[in-house]
Amino acid sequence: MEENNDKLNKSEIMTQESEIMAQESKIMAQESEIMTQESKIMAQESEIMAQESKIMAQESEIMAQESKIMLQESERILQKSERILQKSERILQKSDIMLQKSDIMLQKSDIILQKSERMIQESERIIQESVRMIQENNRIIEENDRIINNNERLFDSFQDNLNNDEILKKLEEIELNEHFKNKEENKCAICLEIFSFGNKVSYLPCTHYFHSSCIRNWIRIKNKCPLCKNIIIS
Ligand SMILES: [Zn+2]
Ligand SMILES: [Zn+2]
Repeated sequence: MEENNDKLNKSEIMTQESEIMAQESKIMAQESEIMTQESKIMAQESEIMAQESKIMAQESEIMAQESKIMLQESERILQKSERILQKSERILQKSDIMLQKSDIMLQKSDIILQKSERMIQESERIIQESVRMIQENNRIIEENDRIINNNERLFDSFQDNLNNDEILKKLEEIELNEHFKNKEENKCAICLEIFSFGNKVSYLPCTHYFHSSCIRNWIRIKNKCPLCKNIIIS
């Protein structure tokens, strides 16, 4: 009996053990399934990661191209900057040259200005000298006038002091008769008496006429016609 019991027990235990093993194998199967699924998920994840890294690689390539373009642009900007710098230098040199030219022109202007000032001063001196010469000329003219007047007076007195006998000899006497008519001169300009018949008159070369005695007395004093002041005999 005991042996059977033991056998029973053993078989029970074995059954239990086999059950446990079955359960364990079930669990293991489940676990392996889980693992399979996990590995599946991991495979998917790694695929996603591969795609992501592909995208990243593309992005980094794009970035590399962009940085290449930026580098080229930077180079172009640098070249432009260099050209601008060279232009600036040329402009600066030109400015320098123009500044020097301006300086030279300024100096020339100064020289011209000084010359102009000297010329103005010279002109003023010439004007003053001219004024002095004009005054001197005026004095000389006045002196000449005085000399001429003096000479005329001397000449007049000389004429007056001429022996007037010759004039008197040349003087003809005319006796006024009834035919004598004169509307302009009806009186002697020396004695202011009206001419009348029988008066003796004398003509001067200027065609003025007077009483013969009046003009004879006149000629002894002056050699000029009492009316028109012409010299009677020159
Ligand atoms: Zn008279
Ligand atoms: Zn006269």
